[in-house]
Amino acid sequence: MAGSSRVGVLALQGDFREHIAVLNGLGADAVPVRRPEELATVDGLIIPGGESSVMDKLSRMFGLAEPLKQAIAGGLPVYGTCAGLIMIADTVLDAITGQESLGGLDIRVRRNAFGSQLDSFETELEIPVLGDPPVHAVFIRAPIVESVGDDVTVLSSLNDGRIVAVEQGSLLGTSFHPEMTGDTRFHEYFLSKL
Ligand code: GLN
Repeated sequence: MAGSSRVGVLALQGDFREHIAVLNGLGADAVPVRRPEELATVDGLIIPGGESSVMDKLSRMFGLAEPLKQAIAGGLPVYGTCAGLIMIADTVLDAITGQESLGGLDIRVRRNAFGSQLDSFETELEIPVLGDPPVHAVFIRAPIVESVGDDVTVLSSLNDGRIVAVEQGSLLGTSFHPEMTGDTRFHEYFLSKL
């Protein structure tokens, strides 16, 4: 039940406050997660947008990387947006030296895939699993999913076929930022998985 679920938002860096506000608005009990003890209390976790290389470093410094990997392996529902999608990808292309991901999602993702000329843009996306109308999607120095494994469902692609939303079991990932648009359907979809 979404209304009684306790949902964590990884709060090391990035736009975690926006996700907490959306989740609270939907009636979930949303809490910031910065420590393993906090992670242990949640029924699901959102990893927000921000900068994946910084989030990676902080998660290892704060002793959260291993508990996060274990939680993902144990089936905790996790939704990664933008940098969060990079964090849960098995393979990261154009990572900085030494950058690691938590993994779990059988995809290859490329950081900053749109290049400097198209750093940020907005578009309407058909997302069949969410129905009509299309989702207004905001991309900010966004990653692209370059390939997916057999167990991954593609939820949405751009008109040119590039993949921007995926799902695999309890894991959900989007290249874009639903927490910025007032359209709560992705968060509701995630809560329905808890
Ligand atoms: N470019 C960032 C990264 O590599 C992601 C940008 C975002 O989360 N909006 O982590």
